Amino acid sequence: MLDDYLSKRDFDKTPEPRGGGEAPDADGPIFVIQEHDASSHHWDLRLEVDGVLKSWALPKGPSTDPSEKRLAIQTEDHPLEYANFEGLIPEDQYGGGAVIVWDAGTYEPLDERAIEESLEDGHAKMWLAGEKLEGGWLLQRFKPDEEPDQWLFIKLDDDKADARRNPTSTEPESVLSDRTLEEVEDGDS
Ligand code: MN
Repeated sequence: MLDDYLSKRDFDKTPEPRGGGEAPDADGPIFVIQEHDASSHHWDLRLEVDGVLKSWALPKGPSTDPSEKRLAIQTEDHPLEYANFEGLIPEDQYGGGAVIVWDAGTYEPLDERAIEESLEDGHAKMWLAGEKLEGGWLLQRFKPDEEPDQWLFIKLDDDKADARRNPTSTEPESVLSDRTLEEVEDGDS
């Protein structure tokens, strides 16, 4: 399942993990949201499913406002240890630019069935227990025949919903290192 991930990268040049490493220690399946200043700035949502991180690129990041439907473009599966990756991917490499771990934690499926089945059907609800994001979210695939990789990531209207919060701008620091994307770009450690 990591074939795409491995074939897109030259591991002599990128600091990204090669796969086959350890998953972060956690009490349940993990999720992570990385902020990534590639050719277009975006956030990457990743969910641990079946030994890999299922991944979606969010051009506008996640929202805590249930009326905001955020586009999520499914991308290649990533290895579990990618959840701890932050650093600077060289500009001439795939995804070149700085990466920080913007949020991390565990998640719990909110559907009756297994997360694999929900994702297969294009409709998966989950409870995120992160440092910045908490509560229920829905991943909904749209136009499955024409645009199989296009999903929406939408906050469920529960007691953690908050239309006034804007954590992608007010809480820009990494939950791993407290660094911002700019600090990683400038080589601060
Ligand atoms: Mn990315």
